Amino acid sequence: MEEKSMRLESVPLNKIRIADDFWGRYMRLVTDKILPYQWEVLNDRVSDAEPSHCISNFEIAAGRKKGEFQGFVFQDTDLAKWIEAAAYSLAFAPDHKLEQTVDEAIELIGEAQCPDGYINTYFTVKEPEGRFKNLSEGHELYTAGHMMEAAVAYYEVTGKDRFLKIMCRMADLLCDVFFSKAYEHGVPGHQEVEIGLVKLYRVTGNRRYLELAKAFIDRRGVEPNYLATEKLRPDWVDVFHNPDPYIPEYAQSDEPVKMQKTARGHAVRAVYMYSAMADLAYEYDDQELLRACETLYEDIVGKQMYITGGIGQSGLYERFTTDFDLPNDRNYSETCASIGLALFCRRMAQITHDEKYVSTMETALCNTVLAGIALDGESFFYVNPLEVWPDNLLPYTSMAHVKAVRQKWFPCACCPPNIARTLASLGEYAVSVLHDSVWINMFVGCEFEMKVCGAPVIVKIESAMPFEGKVKIAVRKKRTGEDDSEPSEGSQTEDIGALMDGALTELSLMLRIPSYAKNSRISVCTKDADDSSCGNSGYQEQNAVALEISATGIGREPETGSRQSFRQHGNDHSEGSFHEIRIPLAYDHDTTVIYEFDMPAEFIYANSNVRADAGKVAVVKGPMVYAAEQIDNGANLAAFEVDTEQGITEEYRADLLGGCMMLTVHGYRLVDDEPEKLYSAAAPKKVPAVLKLIPYAYWNNRGQGEMTVWMRKH
Ligand SMILES: [Zn+2]
Repeated sequence: MEEKSMRLESVPLNKIRIADDFWGRYMRLVTDKILPYQWEVLNDRVSDAEPSHCISNFEIAAGRKKGEFQGFVFQDTDLAKWIEAAAYSLAFAPDHKLEQTVDEAIELIGEAQCPDGYINTYFTVKEPEGRFKNLSEGHELYTAGHMMEAAVAYYEVTGKDRFLKIMCRMADLLCDVFFSKAYEHGVPGHQEVEIGLVKLYRVTGNRRYLELAKAFIDRRGVEPNYLATEKLRPDWVDVFHNPDPYIPEYAQSDEPVKMQKTARGHAVRAVYMYSAMADLAYEYDDQELLRACETLYEDIVGKQMYITGGIGQSGLYERFTTDFDLPNDRNYSETCASIGLALFCRRMAQITHDEKYVSTMETALCNTVLAGIALDGESFFYVNPLEVWPDNLLPYTSMAHVKAVRQKWFPCACCPPNIARTLASLGEYAVSVLHDSVWINMFVGCEFEMKVCGAPVIVKIESAMPFEGKVKIAVRKKRTGEDDSEPSEGSQTEDIGALMDGALTELSLMLRIPSYAKNSRISVCTKDADDSSCGNSGYQEQNAVALEISATGIGREPETGSRQSFRQHGNDHSEGSFHEIRIPLAYDHDTTVIYEFDMPAEFIYANSNVRADAGKVAVVKGPMVYAAEQIDNGANLAAFEVDTEQGITEEYRADLLGGCMMLTVHGYRLVDDEPEKLYSAAAPKKVPAVLKLIPYAYWNNRGQGEMTVWMRKH
């Protein structure tokens, strides 16, 4: 008998509908604002945004028009990530016009493909002699990886294989080139193609793609170092003036990956590589590789990650630095790096089922990734500081990379479409399935369908997160004749018929008990569809629990007599784990699980080795980190100190930023005794003051001003 995979799977995005007060607005932003806006940008039709040149480059490469390639060597990836985001969006919001636009873009890509399968507008138009001669900085493989991801996404959602075939031809060419003697040590300078190749393998079954991904990972850090020797060739062209002389650790190629113990070098390259390592650890059942992934994860979250899930501290070269070096005002913390961290953690959670990865994934998504995009969906942060004083963000200084306001676009625009594809694929992060179990990772309101013993089961989640710890999960079998949104699944009616003879099946609901959940309460109510007895299910006969959950608060509490208390499931739950609830799936039963927990805002202290945060506190509530802004508190946030003894006041403000929690902390503001002097022997006075905090994700949506996450402690 074939061994069953233990890897958690995503629910196909066309089987899951997000309906959530918090995340729903971002999903609508993707469809209504981000995709149309970014398409205009890619076509250089937004006058006040940096020109993208992306579509133009493809048109030139396709021979549709004359002109020069413009932009970065990886400019094609902007279109790739846009198509990937559009594909995910089509899964939950079918849109004929958008699909037509994507089809036309794919035709353009096809026309820009060379007869041998090569696709990359920079090298086709600008440097045809330079193909595969600058793996270190040419980003050809990185670009190909994003194109592969987009092609797979579009194929999976629409069933159309035109783009998939285009990218298979490119992948075939890559296999021919990189399995040849001349390139037997070749590896990409910027990892990403490994992820794309694994995805391509999973949909096509072509093991060469998987083997090439494995080769790229296995060759890293093994002598001879291809990236180092490549630079010695006379025809090598320096593109980015990256560290020179070459530093192998910048591209994680100083040691074989299994020996790497610390996250080092360029942060995005690192986490994309770790994601691929996780994929390969699973595909080859390579426990040693999986352990390397765990070690690298622990290094990041234990010593190098911001409380917001930001990684890659250095503003110079977008890289990791050293343990506990987490400056708040001049860090880089690229949005793409946190997206990569979420990708890595999602893969690790799928393989290991360990809640800690979900927790980090949620932190990165809820804070740095969301901060990367304005609430109107039209401007973006690339760099994500935790402390901003707009006046000192001067060009030609060490602060020049930090922006006080989100930008319409960037000359290097990796982040905006990366945010789009991440938000559009939220369903892949929110829940997972494995055989007859469903894993609730993030508490995102949604409805989806899964199969248990071949029969379709509907799971509906309502959630008041991330502002309140209230979640309702309803599980029921799909009824015969119920509208099926997926006509291709014609066998479902038969499945239902086969199970109508009373065979008892069970769904295992794996409910995440996050580490921020205090005093968790879980109740289960199984109700007969006809309101009659359901006594043989093993659960008490109960009435329906009418619980309306919204971000503004919960409706009425269910009557205590009508619930099965959490204790009836045993006391084996603990924070930072998944708690199993067995749900009987008799055909005529509906089961509702109510999960409530306390999630008080709390002060958090950094390890005292974090020099930048010594003597300071931050405030978190659940997965969200909070920040003080000038607009609520006046200028010079550094002059405030928090008295933690006075606690934190919480208030949900429906009128603020589309509805969010506002927290208030109490303390003192420094007032200079001799304000005209730069230095004085007279100590400043401390006058009582309060500081208002909003979610970090929402900062800079009300104009330019100071912001800080870490506050001095009184
Ligand atoms: Zn980026």
